[in-house]
Amino acid sequence: MMDLSNKPKEKLEFNKLQKRLRRLTGQAIVDFNMIEEGDRVMVCLSGGKDSYTMLDILRNLQASAPIDFSIIAVNLDQKQPGFPEHVLPAYLDEIGVDYHILERDTYSIVKEIVPEGKTTCGLCSRLRRGSLYGFAEEIGATKIALGHHRDDILETLFLNMFFGGKLKSMPPKLLSDDGKHMVIRPLAYCKEKDIQAFADMKAYPIIPCNLCGSQENLQRQVVKDMLQQWEKDYPGRTDSMFTAMQNVVPSHLADNELFDFKGLKQSEDAFNKLNIISL
Ligand code: SF4
Repeated sequence: MMDLSNKPKEKLEFNKLQKRLRRLTGQAIVDFNMIEEGDRVMVCLSGGKDSYTMLDILRNLQASAPIDFSIIAVNLDQKQPGFPEHVLPAYLDEIGVDYHILERDTYSIVKEIVPEGKTTCGLCSRLRRGSLYGFAEEIGATKIALGHHRDDILETLFLNMFFGGKLKSMPPKLLSDDGKHMVIRPLAYCKEKDIQAFADMKAYPIIPCNLCGSQENLQRQVVKDMLQQWEKDYPGRTDSMFTAMQNVVPSHLADNELFDFKGLKQSEDAFNKLNIISL
């Protein structure tokens, strides 16, 4: 981490940022009951800014939490060419956190199955998820923590609307399809801008996610740029959109499964009054 001891202004900025990330993470944990007494939380660490920040903030909260829970960091080494294997173990040894490095050659599987030139991220993520879920079971983890933040959640909402015809996103808490695994996203309320600034100040040893040679999901980048431009043109819009995700009004959408539009009836009283007025 950068030495801020001689820089009071930067130190103040850092403390403010850390406090904000801590407060928002703590709030999300409470709002969604993400972590409970006795939980063994498996923190998935990719080597990107988000997962480093999540680990830091969770350990920070753990130190003062009124409940007792343990943390175990897990990195999945997918055997991409050039993956710097030593970086995460060195970092985790230095900060003194329990960890596992799980080795699964998903890279070769993806290369074998996906035709040349096609995007590999879909299959790669599915294989990663499967490996991590399986490993969580092996080590008896009761929660699987992922480092997605508020902006990831909003981008996913728009991606699903634009390309999937669905009003859905990544929830802060999710039960896997087989009902076995509970996935949590403790940074769900945190802004990417804050996480980036925090990670820069901490000078984490970042491992880039382009070692596989695949391009980052292009549509996600387009949506990210769109949201950032909106925020620039209309400050506060991102906050408002995220608040909207927590304020859903099914009777003012158009999903017959969520709201019984067909069975919607005027109340007898109101109907009679209306008749009297119009007589
Ligand atoms: S960029 Fe590479 S490592 Fe990351 S999800 Fe896509 S295929 Fe997997």
